[in-house]
Amino acid sequence: MTIDIHRVTVLGTGVLGSQIAFQTAFSGFEVTAYDISDAALQAGRQHIDNLAAIYREQLPDAGDGRAERTATSIALTSDLARAVKDADLVIEAIPEVLAIKQETYRKLGEAAPERTIFATNSSTLLPSAMKDSTGRPDKFLALHFANQLWQQNTAEIMGTPDTDPTVFQKVVDFASKIGMVPIEIHKEKAGYVLNSLLVPLLNAGLTLAAGGYADPEAVDKTWRIGTGAPAGPFQILDVIGLATPYNVFANGDEDAQKLAAWLKTNYIDKGKLGVATGEGFYKYS
Ligand code: NAD
Repeated sequence: MTIDIHRVTVLGTGVLGSQIAFQTAFSGFEVTAYDISDAALQAGRQHIDNLAAIYREQLPDAGDGRAERTATSIALTSDLARAVKDADLVIEAIPEVLAIKQETYRKLGEAAPERTIFATNSSTLLPSAMKDSTGRPDKFLALHFANQLWQQNTAEIMGTPDTDPTVFQKVVDFASKIGMVPIEIHKEKAGYVLNSLLVPLLNAGLTLAAGGYADPEAVDKTWRIGTGAPAGPFQILDVIGLATPYNVFANGDEDAQKLAAWLKTNYIDKGKLGVATGEGFYKYS
């Protein structure tokens, strides 16, 4: 038996956890956010305050103090049992390390009420790898947000073979209620839909440029004109930041390492890491 979702607890107040907590509170839910220490919570509070400023600036309906009220409405705690004691839904956004997630789900499974649904925001780990640690595989699934979720508002929902279809549907409905566009995934798939499409596109663009076949600008122009898409792979890479793909390629096979070396020599070593540093494949003012 699960009940309707009113109270939501977010685990982790880093980049994504703070966004999930803020968007959920902004949508009228009662939100508690948990992190491991007072120092982590202080950083989390800062993330939340920054989001209030971003929402106020970018969203027309965040004025008249609504963004600030949202920020102060989020309860922060480093006490896991307190954080989850009344939760209907717990959304986990802690580091992408399987052992840390499993250990956290073991503690969470003991601390949370029986009715509570657990959702992981993991980008690369399959929920099956964590389900047994939860002690309630029927009430566990993935709910995957994109960075800057107030604009990039897809929420990919992916269960395991053990996930109760009622729980799945409740989480789909919840995603809609917090302003996301729910994307239902029928079977487990690394990369969900978005990254299954995006990663091959980015890799193909990099292979063309690093192999000397075409410049980044030409690759992007071809993609934009040829498909009507607003941005090409290198424009997207600049927004993501070059450090993440570099780290992925540096730990990959021989071909991937060639891409890593090209990125390092031409961009990383020159401090061109993307939009965040003012220059990547393109210059930003
Ligand atoms: P982050 O490093 O910014 O934040 C992680 C937070 O977890 C930190 O506040 C940290 O103090 C806290 N933490 C560490 N150990 C913990 C523990 N044992 N229990 C509770 N909290 C703990 O990471 P992030 O980028 O927000 O990523 C979090 C999750 O979200 C990952 O699973 C990642 O794959 C996923 N995700 C990230 C993005 C992204 O663009 N950053 C996008 C979608 C999904």
